[in-house]
Amino acid sequence: KDGVFEIENLNVYYGNKQALKNVTCTVPRNKITAVVGPSGCGKSTFLRVLNRMNDLIPGYRVEGTVKLDGEDIMTLDPVVLRKKVGMVFQKPNPFPKSVFDNVAYGPRIHGVKNKEELRNIVERSLKQAALWDEVKGELKKNAINFSGGQQQRLCIARAIAVEPEVLLLDEPTSALDPIATQKIEKLIEELSEKYTIVIVTHNLQQALRISDYMMFFYMGELVEFDETNVMTTNP
Ligand code: ADP
Ligand code: ADP
Repeated sequence: KDGVFEIENLNVYYGNKQALKNVTCTVPRNKITAVVGPSGCGKSTFLRVLNRMNDLIPGYRVEGTVKLDGEDIMTLDPVVLRKKVGMVFQKPNPFPKSVFDNVAYGPRIHGVKNKEELRNIVERSLKQAALWDEVKGELKKNAINFSGGQQQRLCIARAIAVEPEVLLLDEPTSALDPIATQKIEKLIEELSEKYTIVIVTHNLQQALRISDYMMFFYMGELVEFDETNVMTTNP
C-alpha cells in the first residue's frame, strides 16, 4: 500500500527508559490512522518521532529509520519537515495574536509577503477548518477571546495554512466539550481527503468512529495495526 511514512525497527529511549520497542509499520496516505493504547504505552512518543518534536529532550535517542516519501527524516532539513508535517496539541495553543496573524504565521515563515496572497491563504485555511463563517468579521480580534473549540479549529487552520502532507493530532479533543468535539471529529474526517492524518486518542470510541486504520500500542510495542472496520467485525 502507498505509505507516507515508512518506519523500520524504531527504538526510542528517554535515557535508560525505552518508550518504543522495535516498531515497524507503514502509515497509509490520505487516511486517518488512530494511535491508541493505555497511558504511557508510547502513543505520544510515536507521534512526536514523526516530526522530531522530542529531539531536544536530554537523553532522548532514536534508533531505526523513519522515511517520509522515501526520505530519511533524520537527514531532512527540519524546516522542510515541519512544513510537510503539521501538528495540533491537546490544549488549544493559539498565539496571543489576531486570528489573521495566527493563520498567516506559517506562510510568512515560508516567505509569503504579498498581502492579497496572505489574505487568500487565511481565508482558504479558515474555510477548510470550518471556522471562516464564525470569524470572518473578526480576523483582527485576539485569538484568546474565542471559545476552546474555536481556538482548536484555529490551531488546525494554522497547521494547514502551509499545506502540509501530514497532520499530527495529539489528543485534539480531550480538552473540549462534546459539541466542540463532534465538530472537530467531522472536520478531521473532511480533512482526511486532502491530508494524511495521524491522531493519538485515549478514546477508543472516537478512534472507532473516525479512523480508517488503528494502531494499538502496549508497553512501547506496536501490537496490532489494521483497518478499523476489520477490527470491529473481528472481535
Ligand atoms: P502515551 O502517550 O501513550 O501516554 P508517552 O509516549 O507519553 O505515552 O510515554 C511513553 C513512556 O515514555 C512513558 O513511560 C513515559 O513516562 C515516558 N516518557 C515520555 N516522555 C518522556 C520524557 N520527556 N522523559 C522521560 N520519559 C518520558
Ligand atoms: P501532554 O498530554 O501534554 O503530553 P503529559 O503530562 O503526558 O502531557 O506530558 C507533559 C510533558 O512531560 C511532555 O512534554 C512529555 O514529553 C513529558 N513527560 C511525560 N512523561 C514524562 C516522564 N516520565 N519524565 C519526564 N517527562 C515526561
